[in-house]
Amino acid sequence: LAMYESKRAGTHGWKAYDESMTDRRNRDALLAAELEQAGDQLSVLYQPLVDLSTGTAVAVETLLRWHHPTLGPISPAEFVPIAERSGAIDDIGRRVLDQACRQVRAWVDAGADPAFYASVNVSPRQLEDPAFLDDVLGVLERSGLAPRNLVLEITETAIVDQRTAIPVLTALRERGIRIAIDDFGTGYSALHYLTRLPVDVLKIDGSFVAQLNGTRQGAAVTEAIIRLGQILELTTVGEGIETAAQAAELQALGCAIGQGYLFARPATAADLDPMITGRSPGTGTRPAEPGGRHP
Ligand code: C2E
Ligand code: MG
Ligand code: MG
Ligand code: MG
Repeated sequence: LAMYESKRAGTHGWKAYDESMTDRRNRDALLAAELEQAGDQLSVLYQPLVDLSTGTAVAVETLLRWHHPTLGPISPAEFVPIAERSGAIDDIGRRVLDQACRQVRAWVDAGADPAFYASVNVSPRQLEDPAFLDDVLGVLERSGLAPRNLVLEITETAIVDQRTAIPVLTALRERGIRIAIDDFGTGYSALHYLTRLPVDVLKIDGSFVAQLNGTRQGAAVTEAIIRLGQILELTTVGEGIETAAQAAELQALGCAIGQGYLFARPATAADLDPMITGRSPGTGTRPAEPGGRHP
């Protein structure tokens, strides 16, 4: 078939296609191998979630960063799926959770609101791990963080296999840990089983927030998700808020919490310290990460 295709399409087109597939596979394999020894090349940034009516930070989402010594910064949108396939995410995910819990405990101790929470991304593979529940409980115990200070973000793809997901989510919630569905509306068939899922929060994907432009058409999906959240008594969080107009529209539609570059970019714990604890900034704070891209 390849020979036939290359003749028919011309060797050029076929070869270019073939090479880009090979490049992709090579880079994936390289990154998978490099991840095994990434160690402290990996770090975590925190992005505040704010109460849209008061503007105060109520939580932080932890976001992984990988700075490779020769390849430079690599987006989690690229390496997290690779780490899921290789299994490296098990260990990395535990470290992120551990760091998030310790950091939020430190912030609460330093004067943050006692209800301040960490919102931590969990990959489908972690959720399927039979040891996941005990891992999470162990991390909470060691860090001294209360279960109500932790929200786990899962995507719709993670709950496709309901027979595995529902018992784990139920057990986590029985312990007081809350569950958010991340990027809500972008996956498959979440609506189909949403009413049966043990969840607390819907995160409205940034692609829907970006459509807000003051028209009914632009607000259609966002408004429907917020309404759904109200009916099911879930908290809604708007993601990827970049303009004051988007924030105002979300709030007018009944969305409680927002997250996005408008409020703060993902930043180091030290940089966020003053905002979260209310203490004055120390000297030599570094600026938050540059950027403007959405994966
Ligand atoms: P996500 O969980 O949906 O995270 C939100 C993404 O939107 C983050 O991208 C964040 O930096 C970006 N963002 C925040 N505000 C804005 C904004 O106003 N405008 C735009 N354009 N983008 C904004 P990031 O950090 O590159 O992460 C990408 C994805 O990688 C995450 O999407 C999540 O699915 C995954 N990820 C990141 N950290 C982890 C982790 O620790 N574990 C797992 N399993 N996945 C992670
Ligand atoms: Mg997330
Ligand atoms: Mg998201
Ligand atoms: Mg996402």
